[in-house]
Amino acid sequence: MRDVLPWREQVPLDGTMGEPRARGRFGEYGGRYAPESLVEACREVEEAFREAWVDPGFRGALARLLAVHAGRPTPLTPARRLSEALGVQLYLKREDLTHTGSHKINNVLGQALLAARMGRRRLIAETGAGQHGVATATAAALLGLEATVFMGERDVERQALNVFRMRMLGAEVVPVTTGSRTLKDATSEAMRHWVGATGDSHYCLGSVVGPDPYPWMVREFQRVIGDEARGQCAAELRTGVPDYAVACVGGGSNAAGTFAGFADTPARLVGVEAEGGAGATRGRLGVMHGCRSLFLQDDDGQITQAHSIAAGLDYPGVGPEHAHLRDLGRARYVTVTDDEAVGAAVRLARTEGIVPALESAHALAWVIRAAGGGDLPAGSTVLMTLSGRGDKDVSTMKELL
Ligand SMILES: *Cc1c(COP(=O)(O)O)cnc(C)c1O
Repeated sequence: MRDVLPWREQVPLDGTMGEPRARGRFGEYGGRYAPESLVEACREVEEAFREAWVDPGFRGALARLLAVHAGRPTPLTPARRLSEALGVQLYLKREDLTHTGSHKINNVLGQALLAARMGRRRLIAETGAGQHGVATATAAALLGLEATVFMGERDVERQALNVFRMRMLGAEVVPVTTGSRTLKDATSEAMRHWVGATGDSHYCLGSVVGPDPYPWMVREFQRVIGDEARGQCAAELRTGVPDYAVACVGGGSNAAGTFAGFADTPARLVGVEAEGGAGATRGRLGVMHGCRSLFLQDDDGQITQAHSIAAGLDYPGVGPEHAHLRDLGRARYVTVTDDEAVGAAVRLARTEGIVPALESAHALAWVIRAAGGGDLPAGSTVLMTLSGRGDKDVSTMKELL
């Protein structure tokens, strides 16, 4: 490993992305802060997941679904023209090429299969812009489950096309009229609804947030990104392991899945947040949605609204494991503005013929800035997870360009 950044060098190379400690703790974060009935329901999910995850039958069935339905493995694409311009060697892990267009399908197929194994007949989910809702509706249809998706009323209005997609896939979409009528409220409402339906329904949470076992379980379902990339890097990269592994962070699932594949290597891990949704960078300790983590808060400790041009990064907190990795110095978290992300999306489109999701464009914007500013030494090898494709963002982009 060449000498690159003045990062904290004494990082633990092993064990940082294994199982959480007792009661779902990652350092001082995590836990299961939920009403009694949900604590019991979470315990059942944990038990079922533990059994399933060591069962070759379950693992095989999931691997097969990921292959024949979601299109895995996804390629590792060298970004040749952009690399040359930036003076680094950039490789893209192409989650944008999965069925439904983002990494979210990895998690929902895992949870839907688990729900079916637990004898549940319905999935409950929250959604912001609709991406996780569409993925959940897709997995439910595939496995013959029902799906009920909670979505803030404002998002229902703003994302009419995704609402239609979910309904076309057979899901019920429930508009949430409380609070700011966006993702935070939809999540609260979905959890409240689950309280009365734990017997026949599984709560299919969309990121590495929420009560234990979700942060751990969702990371394990997304680990396929990092594991595949690790093998592909070993075959493709001059250095075998990339110098940097970079991913955008909303709740943090695509980043956690990516990092998990490289946690025991010398790769520097970088999570890129939206300037207006920077839970890991600027959040303070708090409890929300069943978990202790870092959240954007006002002086009274009220969780504040996040703002990002990328709907998937518009969450005021970050998963507990990311908070822990930050404290350890094992991963570093940085922020990128809306304008930088839009610029990066256009640049990728024009140099590589790939239109990225605006979420993924945040990760690229940091790579571009860091390569230009010396944070990424010339010649570094960089693995970046391209979490999703940009089709959903073209109307946003059209108004800006
Ligand atoms: C939802 C989403 C994200 C953010 O979610 P994480 O849990 O942080 O991965 C990032 N990219 C895309 C394309 C998304 O749809």
